[in-house]
Amino acid sequence: MFIRTIALLCLLTFSLHIVAAPSSTYMNEWFTAFKQRATPAQMYNFLHAMPKGGDIHHHLSGAGMSEWWWDIATNSKQNGGYTYYTKTKPTLCNGYGTNEFGFNPQLLMFHTISAFTYEQLSSCEKSNYTLLTNLSKTQKQGFLNSIRLDKPHEGRDEFFQTHWQRLGDMLLNPHIQTHLLLKNMQAYQKENVLYLETQIQVTGMRFPDGFAYTPKATAELFVEMLESDAAVDTNVQVRFQLAIVRFLPNAEQQLEEAWTFINENRDYFVGINFVGREDNDRGYPLRFLPTLRKLRAQSPPVSLSVHAGESDEPNTHIRDTLLLGADRIGHGYNLIEDPDTLLMMRNSPYLVEINLISNLLLEYAESIDAHPFPEYLRTGVPVTLSTDDRGMWSSNLTDEFYVAVSHFNLSWDELVELNTNAIAHSFMSDEDRETLLHRLKKETQRFIDKRLNNTPIADVKQHYTFICSFAPAVCSE
Ligand SMILES: [Zn+2]
Repeated sequence: MFIRTIALLCLLTFSLHIVAAPSSTYMNEWFTAFKQRATPAQMYNFLHAMPKGGDIHHHLSGAGMSEWWWDIATNSKQNGGYTYYTKTKPTLCNGYGTNEFGFNPQLLMFHTISAFTYEQLSSCEKSNYTLLTNLSKTQKQGFLNSIRLDKPHEGRDEFFQTHWQRLGDMLLNPHIQTHLLLKNMQAYQKENVLYLETQIQVTGMRFPDGFAYTPKATAELFVEMLESDAAVDTNVQVRFQLAIVRFLPNAEQQLEEAWTFINENRDYFVGINFVGREDNDRGYPLRFLPTLRKLRAQSPPVSLSVHAGESDEPNTHIRDTLLLGADRIGHGYNLIEDPDTLLMMRNSPYLVEINLISNLLLEYAESIDAHPFPEYLRTGVPVTLSTDDRGMWSSNLTDEFYVAVSHFNLSWDELVELNTNAIAHSFMSDEDRETLLHRLKKETQRFIDKRLNNTPIADVKQHYTFICSFAPAVCSE
């Protein structure tokens, strides 16, 4: 009897082994063969259909396609009753020597303001602005192009110093923000993304008459949108990080307010991020250490994902950011130049959010081939792929995977690892994370079964513009 039981157990284990193991082994083999025979468009279709864990480095206001901004800004019924004007003429109404880096730059074309701001301008200044709905065809195209990097000479300075200024008062309308959220969720449903952890601001929003929203009222609009039928129908799970602009004089105060807010609203609000260009020294990481230590002495911790290492020079920003208590590092581009920290991060719990397209377009990476991502991935530094400011690159998460597979020859197991990491390192509650990991596993298995059965993959009909200029063959077949 004992021997029979052992034999049965052996048989069971053996047969379980044959039943459980093969599909991922076969899928690895299948994918290796597929990479050799697939055209660029077929590879893109595959990556589009693949269940993707999530996008966990995503700035909501940078993730609005130009057309989405236009649609909601010109629809006052949907946008909370706001009307917008944009600058179409640069007359020198205020003479020479004006502040071109402040909130009302005189020379910046397509600087967009609300009717409330417009009414306070002199008649000369008013004559420089045109109602968004009255733009000519050429002006409208100029407006759309002014908030995305669409020309070879546009890069880091265009992005950091003009895009956000141009968005102007539209950034202060919470209805536009919640609309961009829904558009992102609907777009992510189409490319099979399960989770979005997006960076937003709940302070500084204004009603059409210029009156300030409270952070609580702004947050309620975000939650209302998340709980709307249209958002629930996407089946994309969303959580929010609050973004602190790191180099502002009152960043510590903002940090304290964000910490308190999240402590009281942990259902959807799950983390804090420090944003803004890292080459502005006023936002150096250790500036926030005393404030964070004070806050950690007062309440349970709030999760931190912090931009660090998005830099041309070698520095210790990533190590310093880990000392702040960060669980995740945004970009980590120069980690490769800090060997002690790189060693520490191998097989650690700290994940690097990789943004290949952002690093290329903002000129941190000279080419995709020069990016340290494969070195991190293949030496055990936890990584995932994310989009950063996809509206301003006109791209999506599939584009990131396409760039990675086509340049670094990723295996199926590596794709699964990247997708799993996005959820495993998310800031959701433990229970929600487990549920979503389970869903990813199930959907991935269904995807594998279809591929192994040679079920055809649907063609992607519409692409965003980045991939069509980066890899024209993806769009031309
Ligand atoms: Zn970012």
